[in-house]
Amino acid sequence: MVSGGAPRILGDVFCGKDLLVRTRVAIIGAGPAGLLLSHLLDLEGIESVLIERQTEDYVRARVRAGILEAGTVDLLKQAGLGDRLAAEGMEHRGIYLRWPGERHHLDFVELAGRSVTVYGQTEVTKDLMDARAKAGRAAFYQASDVVPHDVETSSPYVTFVDVDGREVRVDAEIIAGCDGFHGPSRGAVLGGQDWERTYPFAWLGVLADVAPSTDELIYAWHPDGFAMHSMRSPRVSRFYLQVRPDEDLAAWSDDRIWTALSARLGADEEGWTLKTGPITEKSVLPMRSFVSTPMRSGRLFLAGDAAHIVPPTGAKGLNLAVADVALLSSALAAWLRSGSESLASAYSDTALRRVWRCTHFSWWMTTMLHRHGDDFDAQLQLSQLSRTVASDAAASELAQNYAGLPLSI
Ligand SMILES: Cc1cc2nc3c(=O)[nH]c(=O)nc-3n(C[C@H](O)[C@H](O)[C@H](O)COP(=O)(O)OP(=O)(O)OC[C@H]3O[C@@H](n4cnc5c(N)ncnc54)[C@H](O)[C@@H]3O)c2cc1C
Repeated sequence: MVSGGAPRILGDVFCGKDLLVRTRVAIIGAGPAGLLLSHLLDLEGIESVLIERQTEDYVRARVRAGILEAGTVDLLKQAGLGDRLAAEGMEHRGIYLRWPGERHHLDFVELAGRSVTVYGQTEVTKDLMDARAKAGRAAFYQASDVVPHDVETSSPYVTFVDVDGREVRVDAEIIAGCDGFHGPSRGAVLGGQDWERTYPFAWLGVLADVAPSTDELIYAWHPDGFAMHSMRSPRVSRFYLQVRPDEDLAAWSDDRIWTALSARLGADEEGWTLKTGPITEKSVLPMRSFVSTPMRSGRLFLAGDAAHIVPPTGAKGLNLAVADVALLSSALAAWLRSGSESLASAYSDTALRRVWRCTHFSWWMTTMLHRHGDDFDAQLQLSQLSRTVASDAAASELAQNYAGLPLSI
């Protein structure tokens, strides 16, 4: 079944498939990267077709990231996606860093001249999907066996089986691989190289229907492990606890979660009370840094989690996906509208400079804040935390990276 407007359907005569579709850009994956790319291309007058493995409802409901860099907010507003964001997004000036006996506020506006905005990835996805529905753009949801073909030629195409069991072929000028870490696009990059770091810990992520107990995010180092108090709205809070990668979710009752959060976030020590409420979602998130290079192979371009994963400590995953797509949409517009390939040729190198910077920042925040190693490592972490809040230069470095670096660095 095709959702949205009808793609140009050409019939089955030439390709031995049940359905042949032609478009300019075939986008695999309807996460934030794929949805935003199709939206930005549409603004440039370039037609695209989205091919997504999951149902539309599943994509719409997925709970993930929640912090938008200033540049991400600007881009979404410029793309006409800013109404709900302006009304419901919560602008934050900074974060708290805490460890036993200490709590410090880092003011990003003072340190870096930029703020961040709390607005859930689920809300960004809803805005993008609503814009798609309004514009009547085509998408295939519940597509299986999705495969990109002939990406090194000038006539690449994607094949898949649609929800009704029909074999479909989408011919395109460009294929955009926005299909996340587990999608098929990365494997189609010729001579690709993977760079990876897995961490010996994971996050227990908790979503709760309770008002935040803090005005800004708290990042807490604790002898029992890292904890974080984040939020999604004035009525919904998001919490994380450092746990083992093979942690059994069943061992974490709601009571145990609230007790651990209260202790690690320092509520008991600082004399405040962590508000509790119904927990609506719990999951264990593995922590990994991963970069795949290059981000282009012929007419296939990778964007977002298809090319890189960061541990969520630095709140970079969603923002990196948006930055990739901002670069890619301009590059494809220049190529497809005026035949200039220079931005497309530079795309992988330009995007990877920012990707590696954010990969380093996310690794640094993760390494500083999570208990790992021995007691000597713990003392080094505490020394680094003290230095980060005591030195304007160190605090500014964190603030600039967290609030977001320019698109091209
Ligand atoms: C559980 C979880 C929690 C996270 N929490 C945070 C957080 O707190 N903070 C933060 O900054 N970041 C977080 N992230 C990272 C952030 O959500 C991602 O960086 C962001 O979603 C990247 O967007 P994307 O569109 O590139 O990839 P994705 O959102 O992964 O989208 C990829 C899309 O491709 C589709 N797809 C996959 N395989 C196929 C296929 N074979 N055929 C067709 N379609 C396919 C998927 O269904 C999906 O819709 C989290 C990620 C996960 C997985």
